[in-house]
Amino acid sequence: MKKRVVLTFPKQTIEEPITYHLIRDYDLMVNILSAKVNPNEEGRMVIELSGRNKRMNNGIEYLKGLGVTIQSLAQDVTWDEQKCIHCTACISLCPSHALSVDRSQMLVSFNPDRCIVCGLCLKACPYHAIEIQF
Ligand code: SF4
Ligand code: SF4
Repeated sequence: MKKRVVLTFPKQTIEEPITYHLIRDYDLMVNILSAKVNPNEEGRMVIELSGRNKRMNNGIEYLKGLGVTIQSLAQDVTWDEQKCIHCTACISLCPSHALSVDRSQMLVSFNPDRCIVCGLCLKACPYHAIEIQF
């Protein structure tokens, strides 16, 4: 099982070696896709977890027990097709190809499963078609 999630953790858990415990105690593979952690502030981290179902659930329960909020990635990144004019300005900036263009029709599309929430597309888009709830 593989899951990409956004973790929001309260400032009292900033020092907690969360990824270490997920790997050692829950036998999960943790791939950190992006992180925003400042001392004495709430932290945000986008991670990909891989492992067996039961271990994944136990690991998630461990995080919840610490007061960490867990959201699926798709809840944090939105692409508004109505606002997008398919100018393609964002395409070359997207490192994971979450934003792509069908060149035969010059139509842009967004695949939230590929997005690593790097934020590079935000400044490129003149129509604010992409929003990240960070
Ligand atoms: S935030 Fe934008 S540029 Fe970054 S991976 Fe997601 S869609 Fe691509
Ligand atoms: S920059 Fe904005 S308007 Fe242009 S293709 Fe990307 S999402 Fe659409």
